[in-house]
Amino acid sequence: MAFVNKWAALQELENVPVSCSTCGVQTELHSPNEAVRHALHNASYIQSFKKQIVLLQRTRALFERFPTSRHPVKISHEYVHKAERPQTQQDKDFDRALADDAELRHFLMRSSFLLPARLAGVSKACDEWQQRLDDSLIRCNACQYGHYVIDAALFEQLT
Ligand SMILES: [Zn+2]
Repeated sequence: MAFVNKWAALQELENVPVSCSTCGVQTELHSPNEAVRHALHNASYIQSFKKQIVLLQRTRALFERFPTSRHPVKISHEYVHKAERPQTQQDKDFDRALADDAELRHFLMRSSFLLPARLAGVSKACDEWQQRLDDSLIRCNACQYGHYVIDAALFEQLT
């Protein structure tokens, strides 16, 4: 899995829009120092890894509901090499299940990955970044409990 370097882009931002991981309050940090930027950067990666892990677990649960399905979406996430892939087959029940979860459908349509490898990789990355965080989290002023992460939409666009 390739990680885009967002650090350089983050350093160029004068004011950083953030939201609280717990209460969701949105605010802006003005000219944060390097240590704060680091904490925000790492906390934001962890947040995005966690979101992805939830989607991957939902993918696994969906695939387990249809163990014998050869729907193209399922097959393409279960076999890395095209030559190894079994012949795909239409599966209306699988289609209906996908249609019921628009977010998961969107995630599966726009990303290509091998499910077990990606789930293991993202979980490992999440743990590693968590270790780098220590107690450098920037506490939320509103609830005094959660911590700030960079606005999710902005963070995704940072390159
Ligand atoms: Zn808060």
